[in-house]
Amino acid sequence: MQTERLKILIVDDTPANIQILNEVLQGDYDIFFATNGPDGIRIAQREAPDLILLDIMMPEMDGYEACARLKEDPRTRQTPVIFITAMGEEEDEAKGLECGAIDYITKPISPPIVKARVKNHLELKLHRDALEELTLELGNKNRELERLAREDSLTGLANRRHFIEVLNAEINRASRTRQFLSLILCDVDFFKNYNDHYGHVAGDRCLQAVGQILQSSFRRAGDLPARYGGEEFTVILPDTPLSGAAQLAEKLRQRMIVEAMPHAFSAVAAQVTLSIGVAGTRETRGRTAAWLIDEADQAMYRSKEGGRNRVTVVSLD
Ligand SMILES: [Mg+2]
Repeated sequence: MQTERLKILIVDDTPANIQILNEVLQGDYDIFFATNGPDGIRIAQREAPDLILLDIMMPEMDGYEACARLKEDPRTRQTPVIFITAMGEEEDEAKGLECGAIDYITKPISPPIVKARVKNHLELKLHRDALEELTLELGNKNRELERLAREDSLTGLANRRHFIEVLNAEINRASRTRQFLSLILCDVDFFKNYNDHYGHVAGDRCLQAVGQILQSSFRRAGDLPARYGGEEFTVILPDTPLSGAAQLAEKLRQRMIVEAMPHAFSAVAAQVTLSIGVAGTRETRGRTAAWLIDEADQAMYRSKEGGRNRVTVVSLD
């Protein structure tokens, strides 16, 4: 099951008992021992044993108290504890199980029973550990899948599906709070020409660069830049009046100019430019994502028709 030997800690104030248990178990396990509770706890914290055999009757700190302390400490909380006790003390058994022990071994010690119980509990512990690891791994994988389901694989921006989910949520929120909600929709000018002349690999790189510009341009909490599809991008701007959204859109248009990504096959400029539409409203009650997208889309088409590389704003109020 594993190459390293498992560790067992024996805590008993009678050295003869430790000796017997050691003889039974040392062939299969690494044995540590202590003759009082406080030493046992220190060794448990330091060595992280896989199992602890704990005597109940000990002076100063008895087994119950030692067990309770082990269960309070995050370093030793998960370590299974088996009590070693004199035979036939049923009341004590209940008390031991209450404070977190998983089993009892009664004195006088019977080697085959000790061996079998120890083996069973160690196997259980290994299964528990493995299960815990798998559960953590599963959680990580699920989070990764959730992220992938929201993300556009080319640009790393939110994908269309996630964009529409968020837009619907923002519309609902805006209608509750009576806040403004604005939407930017933009399209890379003459992108078909770009692809035809530079090739699809260069086209993809161009879209990635535009995605990065969007990502770094819209950083307020709640802003959501997304890839809408093809060479179309969009940005949700919660709590943003139309005038503010129009300014942000114009800043984006100018940022594209500053970035000066060459586009020799554009009829509007020697570089990559955006046609941008902005729609915004305070009247979102009963509205849908499709409605707001459609309004922004119409504004964007007016930018296209008006000569591209420009911002068109429509007020919906
Ligand atoms: Mg004792």
